Amino acid sequence: MTTRGVILVHGGAGAMRSMGGQREAAYRAGLRAAAAAGRDVLAAGADAMAAVVAANRVMEDAGCFNAGLGSCLDERGEYALDAAVMRGSDREAGAVGALSATHHAVTLAHELLAHRHVLIVGLGADDLARELGLPAIPPPPADKLATYAKLRASKAERLEDLATVGRPDDDDDDAGVKPSPEDTSHDTVGAVALDSSGLLAAAVTTGGLWLKTRGRVGDSPLVGAGLFACNALGGAAVATGIGERLLKDLSCFRACQLVESSDAGAAAERAVAELAQRFGPDTGGLIVVDREGRLGAAFNTSGMGRALARVGQDEVPVAVWPEEPFPLA
Ligand code: ASP
Repeated sequence: MTTRGVILVHGGAGAMRSMGGQREAAYRAGLRAAAAAGRDVLAAGADAMAAVVAANRVMEDAGCFNAGLGSCLDERGEYALDAAVMRGSDREAGAVGALSATHHAVTLAHELLAHRHVLIVGLGADDLARELGLPAIPPPPADKLATYAKLRASKAERLEDLATVGRPDDDDDDAGVKPSPEDTSHDTVGAVALDSSGLLAAAVTTGGLWLKTRGRVGDSPLVGAGLFACNALGGAAVATGIGERLLKDLSCFRACQLVESSDAGAAAERAVAELAQRFGPDTGGLIVVDREGRLGAAFNTSGMGRALARVGQDEVPVAVWPEEPFPLA
């Protein structure tokens, strides 16, 4: 199969049943706009890397995803953003972690493709963004600070309870708290694309988890865990879900390994099933594109926002729930 270019985006996998209403409408519109932006970049002749970065930037600006302006806050009430890009032709990658002052983490990760280092974190990464003239992220708005205050209060209460009962279980540890679903849906974003020259690329950008420990970095900027792209294997993949599980699973590398002897759909399903086998349900989801332009999207959570767009087609299918039609083929 030859393709004129295709892009698949996700808006995070998580406990989303309570989303509904205006929030869901904005979320769907953001997914559609991101996939369409990536497709338009491909249609204009740019490569798959440019397309995945453009799609991620749209979602960083939308405010309704856990990325860029919509990002959650860490235990100190600050942004701590992670992002990465990977190019399939030569396995070049750029990644950043724990940024607190940079608006478009994915753009900084993209800049690192031309840098001697692959992963830069914290103050050094924010300094680099400033040196490159990338815009700063505005301070968190009042409603986000209110959510932060609410979550902090509930975490303090829970830790007091736990002190009297014993050790917190694995899910309740300091990786992050598990407050109500509307506060925690894993709305990290990512995109995979194949362009008309056959190049595969992947990009991801996230705010991580609410109330995460300062300096915590999840799977997203880690090559093999949060993303992977390799033309030799024939796939590109991006993950979303609980970073503490995904980074031990190397889910994206696994999906690309599986693609070599199958296709994007089968690889995504199998890699997510293996993730669930090892680390349980409600742990994450994956999007995958293969060298033929076939697409895969799988998740073991109650929902995962996804949208796809093909060069030459106006239609941009969007889906969130597992039972919703989503024409990957
Ligand atoms: N994987 C991200 C992290 O753990 C979160 C997400 O996908 O929403 O940082």
